[in-house]
Amino acid sequence: DKLERLQKVIAQSGITSRRKAEQLIMEGNVKVNGKVVTELGTKVGPNADIEVNGVPIEKEEPVYYLVYKPRGVISSVSDDKGRRVITDLLPEVEKRVYPVGRLDYDTSGIILMTNDGAFAQELMHPKYEIDKVYVAKVKGIPTKEELSSLTKGIKVEGDYLKAVRQRILSTDRQKNTAIIQLTLHEGKNRQVRRMFEALGYPVNKLKRERYAFLTTQGMQPGSYRELTPYEVKKLK
Ligand code: URA
Repeated sequence: DKLERLQKVIAQSGITSRRKAEQLIMEGNVKVNGKVVTELGTKVGPNADIEVNGVPIEKEEPVYYLVYKPRGVISSVSDDKGRRVITDLLPEVEKRVYPVGRLDYDTSGIILMTNDGAFAQELMHPKYEIDKVYVAKVKGIPTKEELSSLTKGIKVEGDYLKAVRQRILSTDRQKNTAIIQLTLHEGKNRQVRRMFEALGYPVNKLKRERYAFLTTQGMQPGSYRELTPYEVKKLK
């Protein structure tokens, strides 16, 4: 899990400024997991128990966002190659939020962001069987039999990959392309691309248009919104 500097975490809890937090630490007024810590810059994880003057600080209030990731953005919070990252899309959000799962650099569509780690872990677990609905534009036109093999499950490089639904949305015989909707419950690395590649149909364009009951409808690529309390409850 991500570690943060103690003074930053105290300041983010809203009880005081970063400067004052540093002072409190140096003066021996801060405990982490029951032990006094006086060293500035001590790193703490999100589950650390922090006390200031004997009073536990409140854990950060959970926040939940739906982001419409455009292509050309990395779905992680940092990138060593200096590419645009998903948190760049939420400049006004000051809390430390993380993506729930991943979308490839070249994939667009829905991704949730939250600081609620337990919630994120649950959503990512396959046993919750959350629909992830993708629309893929592929080179070539798969047959019905080939497409139904995707819902039966196919073995790719030792991984067993399975879709729960597939549907052809359109085909273009001139351009030799097809647009296919594929619903997954799993979220393995590059799963949609690998499944189509295995059949011999490389994916040219990929969008995740639905996550559970949430869609990008009415949103522009690159925009985001907060989930409503009702939506959060419905996901949980
Ligand atoms: N499958 C992929 O191949 N890529 C994604 O980004 C998501 C699902």
